[in-house]
Amino acid sequence: MIVFDLCCVAGDHRFEAWFASSQSFSDQQARGLIACPVCGDVDVNKAVMAPRVGAKSNQLPVEAAPAMPSAPAAAEPTPELVRKVLAEIAAKQAEMLPRSRWVGRDFADAARAMHEGRATEDLIHGQASPDEAQALHDDGIAAMPLLVPIAPPDTLN
Ligand SMILES: [Zn+2]
Repeated sequence: MIVFDLCCVAGDHRFEAWFASSQSFSDQQARGLIACPVCGDVDVNKAVMAPRVGAKSNQLPVEAAPAMPSAPAAAEPTPELVRKVLAEIAAKQAEMLPRSRWVGRDFADAARAMHEGRATEDLIHGQASPDEAQALHDDGIAAMPLLVPIAPPDTLN
């Protein structure tokens, strides 16, 4: 697994996403499968990386990236902390998924039903097109991309 800092073209929103490999990122990017969690834009690129602390002096100088919009923090998180937090997020998702119902392509309808109190369940996951994700966002319905990509159950044998 590999995590990339990504940035949408339309809104310059920064977010992180996990991929099986760098190739997997390129494939999903080319097919428009990666959508910005803020605005739903599928025109997504790797964000400019901030210079790494402790980089070897013989590496090319890296131009400083603009400040990341993030919660105020007293200090830059250490790589160890970042790894720990990401591991916790992945563990949390693994813990939630068994309680979450896979709704596949019905995700947008099911999310809308939940939002309007027409559904009994409170946790679902599925697939939504960028347009559907944008519409949910516009209607104030909370939906977020899975932090760790999963294979849809209906594609598994
Ligand atoms: Zn965006």
